[in-house]
Amino acid sequence: MRIPRFYFPDHLAPGARVALPQAAAHHAVRVLRLGENDLVRLFNGDGCEYRARIVRIDKQAVVVLIESAAPLSCESPLNVLLVQGISSGERMDYTLQKSVELGVGAIQPIQAERSVVKLSGERMQKRMQHWQSVVASACEQSGRNVVPEVRPVSGLMECLGQASGVGHQASGGELRIHLSPDAELSLRDLEKPLGPVLLAAGPEGGFSDHEHAALKQCGYIAVKLGPRILRTETAALAALAALQILWGDY
Ligand code: SAH
Repeated sequence: MRIPRFYFPDHLAPGARVALPQAAAHHAVRVLRLGENDLVRLFNGDGCEYRARIVRIDKQAVVVLIESAAPLSCESPLNVLLVQGISSGERMDYTLQKSVELGVGAIQPIQAERSVVKLSGERMQKRMQHWQSVVASACEQSGRNVVPEVRPVSGLMECLGQASGVGHQASGGELRIHLSPDAELSLRDLEKPLGPVLLAAGPEGGFSDHEHAALKQCGYIAVKLGPRILRTETAALAALAALQILWGDY
């Protein structure tokens, strides 16, 4: 069996003893039936993977001793920021989970004009926490030691007004792509970018004409993925896989 991996959102260092977060402790002991002396792997997003041994299991906690740390990277050389029009509940979760598996660098959820779900206040905060936990679980499963950021929900216009903040360059060599079934260009028509890719995908109903125009004005190139209309989650994920083949690590 592969050594189980858990996200531990706090400081880790060899020699330290830490209690696993509640959900991880439950999974380790009740589901995987791990016992004292068994090994686990922990990551906190700092780029390292920590090996730890279970030293105590009791009603209150599962305590592990960190034995070693190794900088293990499976990050793609292609940095993609997914600018995703918010889709309904499970569909958005699916998009986030799979985009992490496919190597996305960060996700910017967009409250698009045609987003069915309208989020604000406490509900929005809760949803963002939920999305970040979906992303962390996808990292546990996929072996990533860097946890992609789910950025605060924004409207498309505000998002377009902000600096993208992806990669090391401010905007140098950046490629902005807008997935649109009405486009003429395909991904293959584009030149390999020197910097990050910003990839915009609409919600279930697509972006409005107004949003299309704003994307164009902000330098987003409209690109089509074949002649078939894809569901929003399929479009983002197909584009990510294609980008990895073209310029990433597939
Ligand atoms: N009803 C909309 C389709 C929305 S599909 C329309 O006819 O325009 C949801 C999103 O998926 C779109 O906004 C677009 O970003 C993406 N998408 C779907 N099919 C696509 C395709 N063939 N090529 C590029 N993007 C596509």
